[in-house]
Amino acid sequence: MKPCRRCAAKTALTNEDIQRMVLQVTSMKGVRLIDNNIYEKRISACLDCEHLEYGSTCMLCGCVMQVRARLENGCCPAKPKKW
Ligand code: SF4
Repeated sequence: MKPCRRCAAKTALTNEDIQRMVLQVTSMKGVRLIDNNIYEKRISACLDCEHLEYGSTCMLCGCVMQVRARLENGCCPAKPKKW
């Protein structure tokens, strides 16, 4: 899949951007997180997935996977699901 040439500069996140987003979401009241073992399996699947762009963004749902993969109710939008 080719990255979007028009918006790639805005959607390519730095590690600091990603960590800031993770902290924002995981520190929200009421957010339920999965344990690290499950997170590692999920993010590993994403890193091997053809739908991941910029090392962070799922092109099927637009989510930053380092955030979504931590959520208890997070899910993979692919059919069939990869996690
Ligand atoms: S959530 Fe699913 S479709 Fe999206 S990048 Fe991860 S494995 Fe791929």
